[in-house]
Amino acid sequence: ELDWQGKRVTVAGLGVSGIPAARVLHGLGAVVTVVNDGADERAQAQAAELEAEGIAVRLGDARGGSAQGCSTLPEGTELVVTAPGWKPDKPIFAAAAEAGVEVWGDVELAWRLRGPDAVPWLAVTGTNGKTTTVRMLASILEAAGLKTAAVGNIGVSLLDAVLGNDPYGDLDVLAVELSSYQLHWAPSLRAHSAAVLNLAPDHLDWHGSMAAYAADKGRVYAGNTVACVYNAADPATEDLVREADVEEGCRAIGFTLGTPGPSQLGVVEGILVDRAFVPNRQKQAQELAEVSDVDPPAPHNIANALAAAALARAYGVEPAAVRDGLRAFRPDAHRIEFVAEVDGVAYVDDSKATNTHATEASLAAYDPIVWIAGGLAKGATFDELVERSAQRLRGVVLIGADRALIREALARHAPEVPVVDLDRTDTGAMPAAVREAAGLARPGDTVLLAPACASMDMFANYNKRGEAFADAVRGLAAERA
Ligand code: ADP
Repeated sequence: ELDWQGKRVTVAGLGVSGIPAARVLHGLGAVVTVVNDGADERAQAQAAELEAEGIAVRLGDARGGSAQGCSTLPEGTELVVTAPGWKPDKPIFAAAAEAGVEVWGDVELAWRLRGPDAVPWLAVTGTNGKTTTVRMLASILEAAGLKTAAVGNIGVSLLDAVLGNDPYGDLDVLAVELSSYQLHWAPSLRAHSAAVLNLAPDHLDWHGSMAAYAADKGRVYAGNTVACVYNAADPATEDLVREADVEEGCRAIGFTLGTPGPSQLGVVEGILVDRAFVPNRQKQAQELAEVSDVDPPAPHNIANALAAAALARAYGVEPAAVRDGLRAFRPDAHRIEFVAEVDGVAYVDDSKATNTHATEASLAAYDPIVWIAGGLAKGATFDELVERSAQRLRGVVLIGADRALIREALARHAPEVPVVDLDRTDTGAMPAAVREAAGLARPGDTVLLAPACASMDMFANYNKRGEAFADAVRGLAAERA
């Protein structure tokens, strides 16, 4: 039990994690100061609300500070609780280190507040497929009659679930999505079991290097008690298991799209099978579900289903519940979502493909493709993606801030593919992009929005980008009808 009474805690960042953290800590008796870089209207309103509740707030620009308003640590700070997205090189963290003050992220805070009858966590991380896998996992656990919630980076407060706040109450087990940022700031987290789905360059501008990014992802395995689930097709994930410091008896469990080895789940003749969690060392694999039970039954998504199944099996869920849970699962919007067919061309929205690895999965699912791409590259390079996908490209339409990087990779590896560079970063560029794509496409082709980039240069988020695409497609359909 931690004694929070009178403890001076600085919460870094007003936002989805900072505001609930500040309230919870204040409620526990801590003396909370929230610091925030910006001071826009929204931040000022939130600050006023918190201050009315007795929580101190320091905003950046507005109140006498500068953009460096968060560079100094409030006097007497004993602990910093940070929003996961805050970059480790921010001055406030150097100040904390100098003062010998610990820094926790939102996940660390939830973990430390989990209480004596804490429910076990089944954790999922990876470059792509996290949200899908966590939702599949929750669906399987529910099918097994367990009380659970899909929480964490998925956009649902982990802290509320851990504290049993409304609407959660008493849960049996948590399905937790964790980002690399959250793991970076969660040094003492110990999950029941965890999966790293895949590892590809992403957020390198934040982590500083691929090695640092991988190391942060690998933290999800630390202290696992039952299973560390890895992707047998992605050796980097298996390396992380090997390097992890786990509890005695914790097993390494692989998943593969092929025939599984002894401690693996895999696919045999269209059936998802489990050879890892078989009773009495029985040699025979247990049948879990059919490939066609998974929606959509694309290879990357079968991999997600196997990872979810592995975590559920590690927790003791029966095969029939794995099948029922997968059958009940439906994918979220903007993830390889079919929008419409216009003049014999299919339009598919994979706005959630915000990095090259995800984009490669969706480009692999269609042929020929008119590809709409571009946005914020986040330090990525596009040569491999373009090289591997060049054969399937009918044409490319580029939008967004970092489109030149993609254009140059296309010039190097796919010089014969026609490219329309819209040279635009305004929201209105999407209808123009769809129109250009329609011009390049022939009947039987797929026009695929899979930007390989983040959306924030043009849109509030990837949802808005996907909606803009779908609206533009529907506009085109109406015109052509
Ligand atoms: P995350 O939560 O990790 O961002 P999502 O489940 O939301 O992952 O999927 C994001 C995008 O990544 C999808 O639109 C799809 O294109 C792609 N994707 C999903 N699963 C995988 C996978 N296992 N491997 C590669 N790409 C994937």
